[in-house]
Amino acid sequence: MILSFQKAASDECLNKALRRLSENGLAAQIVESASRRLIVITSECDSMPGHFFSQLEGVEKVVKLTARSPLAEDSGCATVGIGSEERRGRLFIGLGRKPVVIGGPCSVESREQIFEVAHAVKIAGAGALRGGAFKPRSNPYDFQGLGLDGLKFMAEAAESARLPVISEVMSPRDVEICEPYLDVFQVGARNMYNYDLLRELGRQTKPILLKRGLSATIDELLQAAEYVLASGNLQVILCERGIRTYETRLRNTLDLSAVALLKSLTGLPVLVDPSHATGKRELIRPLSRAAIACGADGVIIEAHCQPEKSISDAAQAISPAALADIVKDVDLIADTLRQIDKTSEPDSSPEECILR
Ligand code: PEP
Ligand code: MN
Repeated sequence: MILSFQKAASDECLNKALRRLSENGLAAQIVESASRRLIVITSECDSMPGHFFSQLEGVEKVVKLTARSPLAEDSGCATVGIGSEERRGRLFIGLGRKPVVIGGPCSVESREQIFEVAHAVKIAGAGALRGGAFKPRSNPYDFQGLGLDGLKFMAEAAESARLPVISEVMSPRDVEICEPYLDVFQVGARNMYNYDLLRELGRQTKPILLKRGLSATIDELLQAAEYVLASGNLQVILCERGIRTYETRLRNTLDLSAVALLKSLTGLPVLVDPSHATGKRELIRPLSRAAIACGADGVIIEAHCQPEKSISDAAQAISPAALADIVKDVDLIADTLRQIDKTSEPDSSPEECILR
C-alpha cells in the first residue's frame, strides 16, 4: 500500500504516521522527491480497515498495490533533473522536455583525453557527459578503468565544459566515495540484478540511470527500478541498451518495442544506448533516429576524439562530428513528432479532419 501525503505535509506528520504504522506491526518507509511525499507500506495490511490509513494526518490518497512495481508504474516520476547550475550545469530528462543527447567515451583513459572529449561533445551539442571510470569488463585481463582517479578527471573536465556527469558504480562500497564527482549514478547492464547496489542507490539524493540487463525481461527491469524507488529515490531513468538474442552480426539486439512499451507502462524517462546495442559505429545514427521516433527521451552514445584508438569498445565509438549530426537529427525528429502530435490532437471537428 502507498500513502500519498499533501505536498505541504511536515516531517513531523510523516514520522507520526510511521510511528502509528509501526505500533500496528506494519513495516513502512518514507519515499520522497522534490514534488512528492509518500509512505510505502511493505507488510501485508489487508486486515486493516481502509479508514485507518486515510485518516492518518496529512494523507491525501491511499493507493492499494495491484502492480508488481507500483512506484515504477506510477506516472508521477516523469521528469528527472540532473546536475546543478552552480557546478557542472543542469539538464532535464523526460516528459515534456526536449529529447537529450548524452555523449562521451566508453572509458576515461587519461586527464587529457577526457578534457578533450568533454569539450568536443559540448561543442557537438550534447547535454551531459558519459564516461566509465569503474569498468565492468567481461574479461578480467582487459582495461578495468582508472577508478576514482578517472572519475576525478572527468568531474574536472565536465566542470570546465559545463556538462553534468554520468558514470557507473559497480559496488555499494563505491557509492559514497564517487558521489561528489558525478551527477548521475549509472547501474550497468551486468549490475541490474545487484540488489544491494540498487538499495544503496535508493538512499542517494542524485538520479540513477538504470540499464536493462543483458537478458532481462521488462518486468525484471521495472522491478529493479522498484528497488531504487522503494528505497527512497524517485529519480530513476531507464535505459534500453540491447538484449542478447540469437543474432551474431550485432553485439546485441536493440529492443525498440521495449522503449514504446516502457513509455506506456511507466512515467519514468527512458533513454536508448545504441552504442552497446549494436557495437557498430555505422549503426549509431540510424538507431538514434529510430529511438527518438518511437518515444525515447534521449540517447546515450559513446564518442571519442580518436574513435579507432579508444581503449575499450573502439568499434562502436563515433567522432564528435558524427555526434553533432545526431544532435541535429534528434532535434528535427523531436520537432516533427511535436507537429504530428499537435495535428492529431482530437480538438478539431470531424469535418476539419476529413478536409485535412
Ligand atoms: C557502459 O555504458 O559503459 C556499459 C558498460 O554499458 P552496459 O552496462 O550497457 O554494457
Ligand atoms: Mn562501452
